[in-house]
Amino acid sequence: MKGKKETRQFETEVQQLLNLIINSLYSNREIFLRELISNASDALDKLRFKSQTDPDILQEDTELKIKFDIDKTKKTLQISDNGIGMTYDEVLENIGTIAKSGTAAFVEAIEKGRQEGALAPELIGQFGVGFYSAFMVADRIVLTTRKAGTDTATRWESKGDGSYEIEEVVKEARGTTILLYLKEVENGEQDFTEEWGIRHIVKKHSDFVGYPIVMDVESEEPIPEKEQLQDSDGNPIGEKTRKVIKEETLNSMKAIWAKNKSEVSEEEYNEFYAHLSHDWNPPLTKLHLKLEGTTEYSALLYIPSKAPFDLLQPDRKHGIQLYCKRVFIMENCQELMPEYFSFIKGVVDAPDLNLNVSREILQQDRLVRNIRRNLVKKLFELLEKMEPSEYDKFYEEFGHVLKIGVHTDHENRDKIATLLRYNTLNSPDKKMSLKDYVDNMTPEQKEIFYITGDDATALINSPHLEHLKEKGYDVLLMTDPVDEWVVMGLPEYKEKKLKSAEKGEIEIEKDDTAKTSDFTSLFSFIKSKLDDKVKDVRASNRLVNSVACLSGDEADMSAYMEKIMKATGQSPTETKRILELNIKHPAIEKLKALYENNRDDASLQDYSELLFNLAVIGEGGKIENPSKFSQSIGKLMADTL
Ligand code: ADP
Ligand code: MG
Repeated sequence: MKGKKETRQFETEVQQLLNLIINSLYSNREIFLRELISNASDALDKLRFKSQTDPDILQEDTELKIKFDIDKTKKTLQISDNGIGMTYDEVLENIGTIAKSGTAAFVEAIEKGRQEGALAPELIGQFGVGFYSAFMVADRIVLTTRKAGTDTATRWESKGDGSYEIEEVVKEARGTTILLYLKEVENGEQDFTEEWGIRHIVKKHSDFVGYPIVMDVESEEPIPEKEQLQDSDGNPIGEKTRKVIKEETLNSMKAIWAKNKSEVSEEEYNEFYAHLSHDWNPPLTKLHLKLEGTTEYSALLYIPSKAPFDLLQPDRKHGIQLYCKRVFIMENCQELMPEYFSFIKGVVDAPDLNLNVSREILQQDRLVRNIRRNLVKKLFELLEKMEPSEYDKFYEEFGHVLKIGVHTDHENRDKIATLLRYNTLNSPDKKMSLKDYVDNMTPEQKEIFYITGDDATALINSPHLEHLKEKGYDVLLMTDPVDEWVVMGLPEYKEKKLKSAEKGEIEIEKDDTAKTSDFTSLFSFIKSKLDDKVKDVRASNRLVNSVACLSGDEADMSAYMEKIMKATGQSPTETKRILELNIKHPAIEKLKALYENNRDDASLQDYSELLFNLAVIGEGGKIENPSKFSQSIGKLMADTL
């Protein structure tokens, strides 16, 4: 059988990236090592995870490790692992293309980063392009890999110049070997065939990697006297020492979450975060815990400083790795963290867990549930204690996700509510907590008012708020689709009801009640003209300057919610809204006079429709027949001017 062999072109984005790496990344070249080590370590994790259900997969090759080989004459550096390996198709998928959905986002971020002067190395890890960083130091890379449990291997080779070759080959052992043909070392640059250099970099970036990272090192050892050359009298002559090759382990493999806080430096924490998250920006903050007692565990959790580009993708992985006595069990451990904390990265080590635990078991495991509850509690404490400026940064990046919890985690609803921040009518530029909102309420104000919609400026100017403005009440401006779910899940905060400014009754001032009844007849007349559009016509106590607005009953869907549902391809059952009219407005007074004078006046129909359309426009909505509307206005102007 003849093996496959082909030459392929890189995807455009990959080549763009490679050019960037080859031509403009000179600083911090050593990071390619931690990228390759991190890939090898991932591959070993995957193999170890698989071996729990399929022990045969390891065969005789049970000592999982990462190995460096240096050839000073050929100027090559090779890194090998006996991890999971890749099939031919996996190589095509993983090495020929930029990872997953991030392509466009990546190129965008690089461009943006360039404009802002951000260093590209920081961006590299985030986007799953770590492998390519090796082109910073190598002008030719050969990757040979054999997937665990298969016989054929794959060789991939590229000079980073637009194309790569890929072919089926034979490889003795499972795993992946990456051979780097190093570029000429220029003045002052590090020579990656120097053993001490490799040793130093591994120590710096990858000390805690959970597998031995080894390298053959030449050293001198004394030759035992008996083995030394002897003269005829039996006296040793000649060499007293000889060169031997010894395998040296370069990393301590110390799990830093198992150490005491005082033993871990800030750099070590940050390096570990980078290793875990592939995000080379330092984290915003961290939480290092060791709990003893009935629920025993240690955890090291990080809050990233930036949201990942795919934060809102439903298939995005959670960031928690589960360990048992420092043995890796699984990544993406969703059972330990609620969805609204899925951006937290870290490690949880639970010594009492069964090593052969499966996801199904985890979901029911009491210990796991307790750990989760406990971690969530600690995270809330951490967030509540944060400096306001730091918390603002957090909220900017992750507030959106956190909000999901209001709806999904009833138990912690109040805690999450405390963490919410909104711009308000009176504070349009600085976000405010619900607590501050409540503290600022006058004794007369009974409820927390909010309004939802996608544009803050439109909301601030919404006719629905006219009366509230006049009273000096503040209103939360909710401009995030998820806020619709927040208000559904949060009926009240600190015993104050959350109340939509555009739905339900707003407390009526008593002296108005009598007057309202004067309009009953006109309003039911208007309603009869707009029967297909509105469910009621009422006197408004929201309006001051505007003549009309649309509102809903307390339980009705808001206009914004309807818009969101339509935008996401759902067809909400259309709820007719309520047309509210401002009985203090001269236009309504005059309309009443016209109506009382002649109930058959033909223009009453036109005015009814005009009022409805004004209400729609007032809240930034779209009217059904703009040209007819514009004609009516034209006619009106002609009549009155
Ligand atoms: P990332 O590690 O962020 O996914 P990389 O560019 O570093 O991105 O690697 C791309 C992919 O190539 C990895 O996700 C993995 O599937 C595969 N890969 C890289 N190195 C190895 C390796 N040593 N063993 C197995 N698979 C590897
Ligand atoms: Mg990687």
